[in-house]
Amino acid sequence: MSSRFRCGLCGRSYPLGKRIRCGCGGLLEVEHEFPEDLDVSIFDGRLGAKRPPYNSGVWRFKELIHPTIDERYILSRGEGNTGLYGHRKLSAYVGLEGVWVKHEGENPTGSFKDRGMTVGISEARRLGVDAVICASTGNTSASLAAYAAQAELQCIVLLPEGGVAYGKLAQAIAYGAKVVEVEGGFDAAMHLLEEAVETLGLYPLNSINPWRLEGQKTIILELLQQRDWRPPDWIILPAGNLGNTSAFGKALRELWELDLIDEIPRLAAIQAEGANPFYRLWREGGELKPVEKPWTIASAIRIGRPVNWRRALKAVKWTDGVVEQVSDQEIMDAKALVDRCGIGCEPASAASVAGAKKLVEMGVIDPGEEIVCILTGNLLKDPELTVKYHRGEIEGVEPHLANRVMRIEPRIEELEKTLSSPP
Ligand SMILES: *Cc1c(COP(=O)(O)O)cnc(C)c1O
Repeated sequence: MSSRFRCGLCGRSYPLGKRIRCGCGGLLEVEHEFPEDLDVSIFDGRLGAKRPPYNSGVWRFKELIHPTIDERYILSRGEGNTGLYGHRKLSAYVGLEGVWVKHEGENPTGSFKDRGMTVGISEARRLGVDAVICASTGNTSASLAAYAAQAELQCIVLLPEGGVAYGKLAQAIAYGAKVVEVEGGFDAAMHLLEEAVETLGLYPLNSINPWRLEGQKTIILELLQQRDWRPPDWIILPAGNLGNTSAFGKALRELWELDLIDEIPRLAAIQAEGANPFYRLWREGGELKPVEKPWTIASAIRIGRPVNWRRALKAVKWTDGVVEQVSDQEIMDAKALVDRCGIGCEPASAASVAGAKKLVEMGVIDPGEEIVCILTGNLLKDPELTVKYHRGEIEGVEPHLANRVMRIEPRIEELEKTLSSPP
C-alpha cells in the first residue's frame, strides 16, 4: 500500500507532504495504491470496535482513506456512526416511498466536517506542523477549533463578517481558536487564507486540503455499509464549496474500481438559488463563473466561488448525476418538515430534501427509486433562524409549516383550549 499526491489539472505527481497546490496552480488529490484483494470484510469486522481509532466511522475505513499513517498520529473522537432514518411524513413530502436521510449532524461537533477534520488534523500531526488555519462559513471552524484544541495546535479561523450562525460562532470561540472576522464574505476570507498559507507557512485545513476530502469519502462508505453494500439509486446532497460532491465521486469511483459495488448511485448536488455558480455551470457549460454577491438564508452554502468545482463536475458527470437549485422558501419548508419528523437539521442540510422533492416533481427521480439525502448539520447550529421561521419573521419566506408558540393565562380551561388548536 502506498499513497501520493496527484494534480487534478496537469496530472503531475508528488510525494505526500505539506504541499496543497501543484506548481501549475491546480489542487492536489490523494492517490492510493490499494491492495488487489481489498474486501469489505475488514471494515465489517471493525463494527464492534470499542476503542479509537477503529470505533470511528472514518478510521474503520483506514485502508481507503490514509492507509499508511501510523496510529500514534491519529486523533479521533469516534466520528461518523451517524444514523440513517426514514419517516412516513418525509416520504409523503418528497413524494417517494424510499426516502432515507443520513444525519451527519450527529458527528462530535454537529456536522460532517468532523470526518474530514480527523484525517486532516492527524496528517498535520504526522507532518509536525504547529499552526493550522481555515476559512469557513462556520462548521469547518467549529470542527477545526475542537480538533486543534485536543491536539494542542495553534488555530486561526477566518469567518465572513456577520455571516456565521450563532451555534457555530459559539463553538469556535469556546474551543479557543483565534477567531478573525474578515470583511467581504467567505470568498474574500478564502483568498486571504491562500495568501496566509504562502507567506506565513500556516497549514490549511479547508476543503482545498486533500485529506479533508479523504475523510468525507466515509459518508458514502458508511452509508453503503449500513445498507449491506447495496447502493441506493440516488444520493442527494447540499452543494456549497463542493468538497462533498468531489469526495463522494472519488469514493464511488474507488469502490467501483475495487469491485466493491456493482452499481453506481447517481449524485444530485443541490444549490441555493442565490448562490448557484455550480448550477449555472451545469446548465451553461464552459468554465465556472463566480457569483459575486452570493445570498441565501442557508449560510453554510453561501459561496459564490467554490474551489472544488472541477472535480465536483467530474463526479456528477461520472455518476450520471444532476445539479439542481432550490429557493430559500423551499429550503426552510423542507427544514421545518425534517424537524417536525423529530430528526432535525440546519437550513443548508434541508436543501437536499427540498432538492429531492423538486427532482421527483420534475420526473427526474422515478417513483420506484430509492434515495438517500445527506443532512449535513445539526438543528442546534442555527436556533435563531428556526425560531424566526416559526414566528413568521423571515423576510420573503412564508412559514407554511409554522408551529406557533401560544401564550395563556394560568387556568386549566385555557390550557384545555390549546389541545384542540392546530397543528
Ligand atoms: C460545509 C457545509 C455544506 C457545504 O458542503 P460542501 O462540501 O462545501 O459543498 C453544507 N451543509 C453544511 C451544514 C455544511 O457545514
